[in-house]
Amino acid sequence: MSPLVKLPDYLARSSGDLDQLPPLFGSVHAPGLTAGEYADVLSSWSATGSRNIAIHIRLPFCPSRCLSCDHHTTVTHNGDTIDDYLNCLEQEIEMVTDRIGRHLPLTQLHLGGGTPNYLSDTQLSRLMDIVDKHFGVSSETETSLEASPKRCSPSQLALLKGLGFKIINFQVRDIDSAVQLAVGRSHSLPMLQDVLGSARSEGFDTIGMDLVYGLPNQTLGSIQETVGRMVELAPERIVCHAFSRRPDIFKHQRAIDTSSLPSLADKVAMFNSACEAMLENDYDWVGLDCFAHRDDPLSIARLDGKLHRNWVGYTAQHAGDLFGFGADAISQIGSANVQNQVQLDDWRQSIQSGNLPLQSGMLVSESERRRRQAMNDLMCNLQLSDYRDLLETNGETNTLAELERDGLVQVTPEKIEVTEYGRFALHQLWGDASPHFRGLAVL
Ligand code: SF4
Repeated sequence: MSPLVKLPDYLARSSGDLDQLPPLFGSVHAPGLTAGEYADVLSSWSATGSRNIAIHIRLPFCPSRCLSCDHHTTVTHNGDTIDDYLNCLEQEIEMVTDRIGRHLPLTQLHLGGGTPNYLSDTQLSRLMDIVDKHFGVSSETETSLEASPKRCSPSQLALLKGLGFKIINFQVRDIDSAVQLAVGRSHSLPMLQDVLGSARSEGFDTIGMDLVYGLPNQTLGSIQETVGRMVELAPERIVCHAFSRRPDIFKHQRAIDTSSLPSLADKVAMFNSACEAMLENDYDWVGLDCFAHRDDPLSIARLDGKLHRNWVGYTAQHAGDLFGFGADAISQIGSANVQNQVQLDDWRQSIQSGNLPLQSGMLVSESERRRRQAMNDLMCNLQLSDYRDLLETNGETNTLAELERDGLVQVTPEKIEVTEYGRFALHQLWGDASPHFRGLAVL
């Protein structure tokens, strides 16, 4: 089936930012969380929390800064800085596991960046020792990391596999050299072929790749070529993100020549074209932004209605509460959402003073929790039943009517279903629907 080929009216009217879309659910007030309350949440977690837990460890270091980067990351060439970070990370994990308990079985372990594989072999081994000392990692744990293909040697891939990683997500963005040049990246196609070949030989269960559309110098033709090459490389998963320049938050993005940025209409056409190419090549569109081979666990979970999503991304299993460690890490623990201190120095100083490194947090009300669950269901299953009280209590039925009029959702007495058009706007529906949640993430 062909995906969207024509821009709906709201996109044509928009000035260039898809955030013009109305939210499906409005925001509700959520009380902020103090450090003391956060400590209480952790201490009482073992009595109230689920036994499934996922952890996400942020490693915010890179050898150089990409102009398109929208992560809080530090460029360093000093291994001592990373050693020092691992020391603090261990202390933070100790502070949390002293409260929630040690050796809890992990459903999911994810290393995010920065560039996790910028760590040396010794540092990666030490990190996994820290994890093993505090958590229960088993053959059932879904272990994944993000990796720069440029930093991957066959011996590093062997080490990562030996340390238990099953899923490796290569940060690619685009293969076109003019696009790479414009954002300060460089991955040649032969290098990618080489690295993917090595990863396959090592026996990783899943190889993923990301594609970013809306980058400087990108054209419809160039992205079609990139997607064609990615499909030939045949990763099991390709995650597709839109790039939005936000120089107010990420100052280095000022260096991007705005005249080289594709228009909104170009971006929609790029995503549409990428989507078509992947569907034609046996990828299944999973949820919001992920394309997975039809025999991939994510695709199977989607068909079985068992797809889940948390801060780390889509997963085929219910991962439970998510505990984030490291600067700027996000945690979703029961009714609390927490963001760690964003700036490396602040995060380090908190930990060295024996305090939990809380930047901001909130206790989510039952009503907000249900809204988030509803949006999560939409993002996984593209439909939602049992929703009326959420909409009516907040007087937002007009929004729903507007979305229905624009062809984004189909509403019946039993359910809201996201249409094929609406699927292209799912990200915006979700983002605006939970401003508090987003407020935690974009600082
Ligand atoms: S590798 Fe990733 S985290 Fe590092 S600077 Fe580039 S985009 Fe940012």
